[in-house]
Amino acid sequence: MEEEQVIRTDLCSSGKEKPQADQLEFGRIFTDHMFLMDFTDDKGWHDPRIVPYEPLSIDPSAMVFHYGQSVFEGMKAYRTPDEDAQLFRPQRNFKRMNHSNSRLCIPPIDEAFALKALKQLIGLEKDWIPEAEGTSLYIRPFIISTEPYLGVSPSSHYKFIIILSPVGAYYKEGINPVKIAVEHEYVRTVKGGTGEAKTGGNYAASLKAQELAEDGIAQVLWLDGVDRKYIEEVGSMNVFFKIDGKVVTPALNGSILEGVTRNSVIQLLKYWNVPVEERRLSLEEVVTAHKDGKLEEAFGAGTAAVISPISQLVRGDKHLEINQGKTGTIAKRLYDTLTGIQYGKIQDPFDWIE
Ligand code: PMP
Repeated sequence: MEEEQVIRTDLCSSGKEKPQADQLEFGRIFTDHMFLMDFTDDKGWHDPRIVPYEPLSIDPSAMVFHYGQSVFEGMKAYRTPDEDAQLFRPQRNFKRMNHSNSRLCIPPIDEAFALKALKQLIGLEKDWIPEAEGTSLYIRPFIISTEPYLGVSPSSHYKFIIILSPVGAYYKEGINPVKIAVEHEYVRTVKGGTGEAKTGGNYAASLKAQELAEDGIAQVLWLDGVDRKYIEEVGSMNVFFKIDGKVVTPALNGSILEGVTRNSVIQLLKYWNVPVEERRLSLEEVVTAHKDGKLEEAFGAGTAAVISPISQLVRGDKHLEINQGKTGTIAKRLYDTLTGIQYGKIQDPFDWIE
């Protein structure tokens, strides 16, 4: 067995001032330290280290700037009532990172070692986890290709980095249903593309639709890129519909990202004996269910919002109102249970907490 690498630590001399609760938004403030590790073809992943947070010096010819060979992850650390820091299913994020790595021809990371490094970093930055209700410390692990070379091929140098950012509550005034526009012109990705990987290009490709969406539209509903008929995701969340007593979510098909929240929602629904189906779901089926009075709820699921109820689906000049624009019972129960487990306020029957 390979000898486990020691994580070198280089502490900053004086920490930055921590933000007040009312200054917290998403992803603008970063903690004092970050984790870094390098990859070269000859040494593999090496030199794991925790160092002061600072700008990187990277060659302008580094491949990531030109061809976008990169992956990232997103998860959170939560402060519990007894002042501990805890993580929600972090193994799944590092597993997904390796899935993304495989698609982007990036060498795999040692998932257990990455988790160890993350815990060490969080341990050091624990005071940065904000205290106010609904706030958390957002965790952004990412890998970039750094070989200085303009050829289109997999890089032979990479950096694996983890940065941390204290973030405010997603819902400042309670869980809030949002309007969603069905996107007919643009697609996020296609089967065989990179949709099931968490890579920057997917997000770059998604910006246009959001930019063009009318005022008051929170996110767009992505349809499949081939038939333009089947529902895939909503913004950067997975999506669920409750139709005639059953909860339906699009089956993973190669272009949908497998969300950690999605998987947790499915497990919770099964645990509660609520019928749940992962299958192909057309927009037409949702519209028909609405017409027949059988569309009971719709919501997005992802790390940022946890559960985001959908009040309306907008298609051109047609507006489909769902559950009278109110948060549904299942969405509320899922939100309360997931956040309860994440913040250590209710018991975790699944062993999800680390
Ligand atoms: N789909 C996309 C495209 C996403 O970016 C995200 C956020 N990572 C999700 C779904 C939800 O995934 P998770 O529940 O792991 O945050």
